[in-house]
Amino acid sequence: MADLTGIPWNEFPEQASPVDKVSKNFKFYELTRSDTAARRGIANDFPSVQELRAAVYLCREVIQPVRDKFGRFSPNSVFRGHELERALKGRPDSWTSTSQHTRGEACDIEVAGVSTMELARWVQANLAFDQTILECYNAAAGPNSGWVHVSVKPPGTGENRGKVLSYVKDPAAGRYVYVDGLQESALA
Ligand SMILES: [Zn+2]
Repeated sequence: MADLTGIPWNEFPEQASPVDKVSKNFKFYELTRSDTAARRGIANDFPSVQELRAAVYLCREVIQPVRDKFGRFSPNSVFRGHELERALKGRPDSWTSTSQHTRGEACDIEVAGVSTMELARWVQANLAFDQTILECYNAAAGPNSGWVHVSVKPPGTGENRGKVLSYVKDPAAGRYVYVDGLQESALA
């Protein structure tokens, strides 16, 4: 295991080993790990150093600060290649995802014992980000329901908008919809 925490994000090597340290508490493999990919035999490797370095930046600027504040967790998902995106979303080979996960710019996180709403509020108040989305949170289902999607664009690749949304169930429509701000339901 190599400690790569001192290497600037934009000089991070293309050939890191899975157990190399990217930041104080996170290893390289955690940036591409996916249960679905493992189950379906999808490689989900970074296609180029660009996505890899974006994920390293995200790890250091978002994932590690959340760890410092709330304690131990591993991200549910960080980089997702197009093949994994198609598998997750049931799309045909012709479909191309526009998700920031495919660029290494987004992570989905939750921390055991921490309310997902509290986590989203903390990210909103304390971190620089492009988008923070409270996803599938439902207070009635428990404070740990859902997860927080956070994206950040590394320096020199575009403006970080600081946009905050929730992806919540609309009882009237019977489906999930995006609403502005951090909300427990589409009716709030
Ligand atoms: Zn996400």
